[in-house]
Amino acid sequence: MKDVQNFLKDFQKEMNWEITDKNYQESRSSMLNNYMLLTTEVGEVAEEFRSIFTRTSELAEENNISEEQAFKLAKNMHKENVGKELSDCIAYIMKFANYLEIDLNESFYSKMKEVKMRRNKDAG
Ligand SMILES: [Mg+2]
Repeated sequence: MKDVQNFLKDFQKEMNWEITDKNYQESRSSMLNNYMLLTTEVGEVAEEFRSIFTRTSELAEENNISEEQAFKLAKNMHKENVGKELSDCIAYIMKFANYLEIDLNESFYSKMKEVKMRRNKDAG
């Protein structure tokens, strides 16, 4: 994760896609704009999932195969596009982490540990 975060830091700088940091109003505006872009990308993931479900129905009907078989085929057909949309999401998430100087690698594992502890507490 560290590699990806560092790569994106350089990439976003190179492309001039960083969250601006000149003054509060500009940073606020840039953060809100990037937040909208992130939610747009999350929506694009949903669109890909919808396409998988539509394709599943079409494949099952056209080829007279089970939904399970059709679903497996549809997932494979959309795998590349889902990967692209998930990558777009990661890019925006990392952009926020970089802007706020968050070590996402550290934050991620710490949060997962917290979730695990909470889950174990709930189960007990
Ligand atoms: Mg996208």
